[in-house]
Amino acid sequence: MADEFIALSVPNLKGNELKYVTDAVETEWVSTAGPYVSDFEKKMAEYVHTPAAVSTQNGTSALHISLLLSGVTREDAVIVPTLTFIAAVNPTKYIGAEPVFMDCDDSLCMDPAKLLKYCETECDFTDGKLIDRATGRHVKAMIVVHVFGNMADMEAIMDIAAKYNIKVIEDATEALGTYYTEGRYAGKFAGTIGDLGCYSFNGNKIITTGGGGMIVSNNEELLAHAKHLTTQAKADQANFIHDEIGYNYRMTNLQAALGLAQLEQLEAFIKTKTENYNHYKEVLDKVDGIHVQDFRPGIRSNYWFYSVVFENDETGRDRLIEELKENHIQSRPIWGLISDQLPYEGARTFELEKAPWYWKRVVNVPCSTNLSSEGVDRVIDVIKKMVQG
Ligand SMILES: *Cc1c(COP(=O)(O)O)cnc(C)c1O
Repeated sequence: MADEFIALSVPNLKGNELKYVTDAVETEWVSTAGPYVSDFEKKMAEYVHTPAAVSTQNGTSALHISLLLSGVTREDAVIVPTLTFIAAVNPTKYIGAEPVFMDCDDSLCMDPAKLLKYCETECDFTDGKLIDRATGRHVKAMIVVHVFGNMADMEAIMDIAAKYNIKVIEDATEALGTYYTEGRYAGKFAGTIGDLGCYSFNGNKIITTGGGGMIVSNNEELLAHAKHLTTQAKADQANFIHDEIGYNYRMTNLQAALGLAQLEQLEAFIKTKTENYNHYKEVLDKVDGIHVQDFRPGIRSNYWFYSVVFENDETGRDRLIEELKENHIQSRPIWGLISDQLPYEGARTFELEKAPWYWKRVVNVPCSTNLSSEGVDRVIDVIKKMVQG
């Protein structure tokens, strides 16, 4: 019995994608000039309620530009999470700055209590600068990742950032559509609370442009500068005069045509993701030894990725991935800790405890927006059989 393959997280292109891309091709606007780019930027800004948005080639380049806009140089340090995708951290190294790896809490996002403890016990705050005593580096910025569509504890994090004059870059590449429903930031979308926010439209994200990204901010000057840097820093375009080192990071019209069609369906995608999440959770939370990881209360999550957590059994993760594979179901472990990876050997870390715990115990299960309720049941059956024996 060859059961149909169930993928982990794949694109869903059944809206106006073909129509808009065909239009881009037929009008021969395929590169970085073209109406879809500015249209997509405008619609994104409207959706997350920022004055504008600046497109990029991917989420990684959006983060790179955001670090530059935060004034980070090779002399500085940047606080980053250790439990996330490595693209959230690599741009720090593109600039030559040094990461300081921070632990997560049970939201899988940065732990604000540890963040505060690091600032208080490991650093000096003088002349408006937070200096890491061990390295002598100025801790100028932090990258806060909204892991799997959850929201980091932005109230606590923004307070610490204000106290110690640290710029906040939100890596909202996994959290487009997530927003606070309660508290100080009610109505605010992930990516729009810190100084700068970054989105990704990679193939596995909640909406895709094949590859692409976006920078948002409430600061229009920063956004204008972002556009300048992503388009080769042209001071006088007609005469090829450039006033900074710029980058060729702008999205193409073809990508933006896809993006525009995808954005039209975002709320419908979130609806499906929510239903499937609730379905998994309702059944699997009753199974002894595992649970489906919660999202923070007081938010509307986009429910991008679902995490099955083995509470006590460290062998469960790999056994489940194997068992699902035999049943033609794709899954994956959570990321290996970035501070354990070769390029980050010897990097500065601070009290990593929860991140290694989750690393050994999380399996991400299928969450595509075209996954049916029957598909979810098939995945649930395999999990139940394995865990209950
Ligand atoms: C996907 C992702 C990125 C990078 O986005 P790309 O578009 O693939 O460059 C960065 N950070 C996190 C947390 C991601 O999941």
